[in-house]
Amino acid sequence: MGRSVSPTLKRPALASIAASAEPTEERGPPATGKRGAIIGRVTLTKKPESRPAPASWGLSKRGIPWEYAAAPESTDHIQIRREYGLFIDNEFSPSRPKASFEVINPATEEPLAQVARASKADVNRAVTAARRAYETVWSRLPGSERAKYLYRIARIIQERSREFAVVETMNSGKPIKESRDVDVPLAAAHFFYYAGWADKLEYAFSGRRPRALGVAAQIIPWNFPLLMLAWKIAPALAAGNTVVLKPASTTPLTAYLFAEVVRQADLPPGVVNIITGPGEIGMELVRHPDINKIAFTGSTAVGKMIGRAVAGSRKKLTLELGGKAANIVFDDAPLDQAIEGIINGIYFNQGEVCCAGSRLFVQESVYEPLLDKLKARLSTLRVGDPLDKNTDVGAINSAGQLAKIAELVASGIEEGAEIFQPDCVLPDRGFFFRPTLFTGVSQSHRIAQEEIFGPVLSVLTFRTPEEAVEKANNTPYGLSAGVWTEKGSRIFKMVAAMKAGVVWANTFNRFDPTSPFGGYKESGYGREGGVHGLGAYLDLSADGTNGR
Ligand code: NDP
Repeated sequence: MGRSVSPTLKRPALASIAASAEPTEERGPPATGKRGAIIGRVTLTKKPESRPAPASWGLSKRGIPWEYAAAPESTDHIQIRREYGLFIDNEFSPSRPKASFEVINPATEEPLAQVARASKADVNRAVTAARRAYETVWSRLPGSERAKYLYRIARIIQERSREFAVVETMNSGKPIKESRDVDVPLAAAHFFYYAGWADKLEYAFSGRRPRALGVAAQIIPWNFPLLMLAWKIAPALAAGNTVVLKPASTTPLTAYLFAEVVRQADLPPGVVNIITGPGEIGMELVRHPDINKIAFTGSTAVGKMIGRAVAGSRKKLTLELGGKAANIVFDDAPLDQAIEGIINGIYFNQGEVCCAGSRLFVQESVYEPLLDKLKARLSTLRVGDPLDKNTDVGAINSAGQLAKIAELVASGIEEGAEIFQPDCVLPDRGFFFRPTLFTGVSQSHRIAQEEIFGPVLSVLTFRTPEEAVEKANNTPYGLSAGVWTEKGSRIFKMVAAMKAGVVWANTFNRFDPTSPFGGYKESGYGREGGVHGLGAYLDLSADGTNGR
């Protein structure tokens, strides 16, 4: 089935933690050019034979008697332009001076498009367009009119959902079944939901006189490119603001597809502007004096820089940053159901999820049966071509992220934890990493403290609820958590004790536009989603000073 690598392996003979070759008695020297995937040699004690199917499948013990046929999603209907300009005032235009960078498919390492690299002057152009649209059109429209545009956008996303899903998968590396069934429908749902609020702001905040803030700068990451765009743009427009959005440099393509939707929906020019460029361009946007609100999702390090840059200004700020969520399984939990929740919690989107359940806490009395089931289930995950409809774990978004995952996994081995990875065969090209599980993890290990942002689970144990709470809260982050138990009273007790913005009970990674999402501590502040997310784009003060 899988293989366990002895915790005594030390550098330089570190385990191969994500090799793509078939398992052999001894893996040879690391393949040069396989980016960040192989960091040394590994010696397997025994060549694994065919993979046994989990007992629950009722198959023979000799192994899975069949393989899935390839089921690739068609890309024939997808038109990715060779070049994308900046989207300002409803027009695509080259950056000034003209400069661009390449965007690739992380599953094949092949180029997808050249994308304009904005300059400081372009940031100014975009903010000026957004200001003009705010002053002359958008802030003057009644909420019911703004709602019509948002409904239109939602419906067009639905109509073009297959196109969005395929482009998202090609650009980000996430499995098509996730972009098709999660990212795109949820993005449309956010526009539908906030369209409903656009003409009801006074009802949402009774006793207040809600006013739009003005121009919002929005910076989003690469793990959910379209969904994060929807989380940001839908409430901003519903509240009456205009926006300048900067997608992550590795994943701008669905944002530019969305720009086409903006035109198709006949949104007035300047209401939505999209510019691409490196982090420093994001910072130019943050510092621009004509910005009223900043919404950022990304790393805690950059979030802190933005917080410092905004300090002392009148700009309103929300930060949605990293996480190191605890997923806690009590001994009365339905184990099979919990297994699915654990798998979904950490291997969904290759674990590149800020609220991923990356620390599993198991009550000692069920540790062994749960671990057996977990390893068996891990061995059935299909890793590979993200466009294949049967793929469970796709490509890591970039070579840099793959290297970061590999480095943290190597630290886990060095610090004495025991690694388990299924013997899946990884594609020859692209940035892939085996689903990984660590046991024997202690609270002080880096893999238990730092956000890995990859398909890597650290398993720890506890005896009492108090111990579970203490261990779960022992992290600088506070974004999300999960609790698995049969007892409703225990759920309520745990939810109250956990320092996390979202706590799921007997489920994990559930998202809904009506539900607020956000963190405590180093996971940021402010909420997105629901009425809370709407309030983040409004001045709710009595005197129109936004409380400053
Ligand atoms: P970043 O925080 O660097 O990137 C997120 C967004 O911020 C991108 O659009 C990025 O642009 C932009 N950005 C980068 N630097 C600045 C800056 N100085 N000022 C303004 N905007 C900036 O995350 P990474 O992509 O580097 O990922 C690093 C780690 O962060 C991951 O390994 C993961 O642990 C964590 N992360 C957490 C996310 C979350 O959802 N909480 C999302 C993404 C990452 P560009 O792409 O051009 O660099």
